[in-house]
Amino acid sequence: MDSLSNRVQKVAPSATLAVTNQAKALRAKGEEVFGLAGGEPEMDTPDHIKQAAMAALQEGKTKYTPSAGIPELREAIAAKLLTDNSVKVETKGVCVTSGAKQACFNSILALVEEGDEVIIPAPYWVSYPEMVRLAGGEPVIVETTAANGWKITPEQFEEAMSPRTKMIIINSPGNPTGAIYSAEELKALGEVASYEDIIILSDEIYEKLTYGEEKHVSIASIDEELAKLTVVVGGFSKAYSMTGWRLGYTATANAAIAQALNKIQDHTSSNATTFAQYGALAALEGPTDFIDEMVQEYDVRRQFVLGRLKPITNISIVEPKGAFYFFIDCTDLGLKSQNLCDKLLNRYKVAVVPGVAFGHDASIRLSYCTTLDVIAEGLERFAQFCDSH
Ligand code: PMP
Ligand code: GLU
Repeated sequence: MDSLSNRVQKVAPSATLAVTNQAKALRAKGEEVFGLAGGEPEMDTPDHIKQAAMAALQEGKTKYTPSAGIPELREAIAAKLLTDNSVKVETKGVCVTSGAKQACFNSILALVEEGDEVIIPAPYWVSYPEMVRLAGGEPVIVETTAANGWKITPEQFEEAMSPRTKMIIINSPGNPTGAIYSAEELKALGEVASYEDIIILSDEIYEKLTYGEEKHVSIASIDEELAKLTVVVGGFSKAYSMTGWRLGYTATANAAIAQALNKIQDHTSSNATTFAQYGALAALEGPTDFIDEMVQEYDVRRQFVLGRLKPITNISIVEPKGAFYFFIDCTDLGLKSQNLCDKLLNRYKVAVVPGVAFGHDASIRLSYCTTLDVIAEGLERFAQFCDSH
């Protein structure tokens, strides 16, 4: 259609949301569907967070707040970044957004110009390349390998660079692979970035969801130079089961970038929903034992999935160390990932996301942020599907 902008015509719809909606539509028709597609925790938001938002509503906290968020929440985020992540940012370096998704988009819009290149290690979260295109930039996709734990190496980073490189996106723990970068790996990537003043968009939305020895490290905590080059993206959707609240944030030690992010917020959405921000404040200030319990529960599910996938001989996996996904290499099944997912959904009623959405057409993504019953039945059917190929 002629009237559509070039910008939007270059962009594909979100496959993660499309599959989730397809599964919902089948359910609405009365079909039983085993949903292993969406990255949305099935657990409810903890009660003390809901109570705080309800109290805020009752108290009339129903008006605009400053675009960057209520001061108490921005302060609490800055304090959390220091305590949990050893990242030093001033309160004015924090901007509360409508989800980590908006936080990523604001960052890209604030920094990427027409023709700028953004290095994105693949497999990547579905929205990064599209956000870069919406901003007029060019995604430069760097294929990582299962053998290297799905992580970009400093050599690959250097090779992908050109005079037009503006930014690299690091997502650790990562969606869809669950890969976690160690402090040493981040330091080595950081050296390459700081040598050429490349901005780092560090999407840390899954920071709390790590299993075993490997823990999340923020690249912004490594040294002051890297802190100035980094925009940290975080949020409440995963750690607090608050997907529908639409709350995230950007945080940076770079005053000029912080100001730019605030300007974008001023002219696009203004503040994130006022009473929801009070819920987020309660999340940060309240008890956190439920996070440990939730992580333990996810780990039980992760081990369960691992146990079920290992005996299937015509797929291969790298054990995910974080987030709540398995990225499964299905090359031997001989189907393109979209075709595979369509068959799995239509014939076996199991919803998963095609790897093509993450830049890797030989794979599929399976989420385990749902109940063990759904996971068990979904995997049983997936095993039958693999068996029939
Ligand atoms: N980054 C990554 C890697 C994600 O998987 C998601 C999806 N949850 C987001 C950002 C966006 O999260 P939010 O729901 O806070 O917008
Ligand atoms: N990020 C989640 C996912 O990858 C939720 C859907 C989306 O926003 O993409 O499934």
